[in-house]
Amino acid sequence: MSKYKRILLKLSGESLQGKQGYGLDPEMLASYAQQIKTVADSGTQIGIVIGGGNIFRGMTGVGKGFDRVRGDQMGMLATVINSLALQSAIENAGGRACVLTSIPMGPVGAGIYSKFRALELMNAGYVAIIGGGTGNPFFTTDTASALRGVEIEADVLLKGTRVNGVYTADPEKDPTARKYDSITFSQVIEQRLKVMDLTAFTMCMENNLPIIVFDMDTPGNLAKVTTGEPETLSAVGTLVHN
Ligand code: UDP
Repeated sequence: MSKYKRILLKLSGESLQGKQGYGLDPEMLASYAQQIKTVADSGTQIGIVIGGGNIFRGMTGVGKGFDRVRGDQMGMLATVINSLALQSAIENAGGRACVLTSIPMGPVGAGIYSKFRALELMNAGYVAIIGGGTGNPFFTTDTASALRGVEIEADVLLKGTRVNGVYTADPEKDPTARKYDSITFSQVIEQRLKVMDLTAFTMCMENNLPIIVFDMDTPGNLAKVTTGEPETLSAVGTLVHN
């Protein structure tokens, strides 16, 4: 049983590439889609923001001679490709999903994103995938997810990653690193821990939107996180709250 009425799920573009190192891995998409459908079927409304790092990042483009704004525009379009891919995977799993975009895309999606259109579609039983980032360069999809999460009045922002939460240090580099089951926004700042980029993090903190960082790559974890039960949650992620 889900604790939350409405969640905003952030998925990185990189996670969609699976082990391939680039692009879209159909198995990964199918696994995510199944997890999303299970939670949607339990009655939780789901908004999703996906990154584009598996295809293009503006900053990477700068190193290759692209103008930053052009590069960011390419990155934002990459998130639309990922959004359409996830929509398709959710439909293949038997679920209902629509794509709203921050940048007008004509017949490609279900229309331009607005809070009210997203709520209308979620109330009608669709998973609302919000593509195109914030629509502005110099931002990330972490920030887009914080912004959309606050806008659609989500109860929680779920950041799906490969790691099962926030650690005292990078667990891939420091074997003594310990995982937090829960931590406050101020502790994250004091201890200079990395949860999301600072713009995204501040937005959540100022608007009292809790964040759960969790391992989305293990099937079943999304459903576990949405139970909101501390014991279940601590096994798969970390809660960041005020
Ligand atoms: N981007 C942007 N504005 C936004 C969101 C994204 O310009 O509001 C661009 C930026 O170039 C970014 C790329 O889109 O690098 C892909 O997003 P992100 O890096 O957040 O993807 P992720 O790391 O989650 O895969």
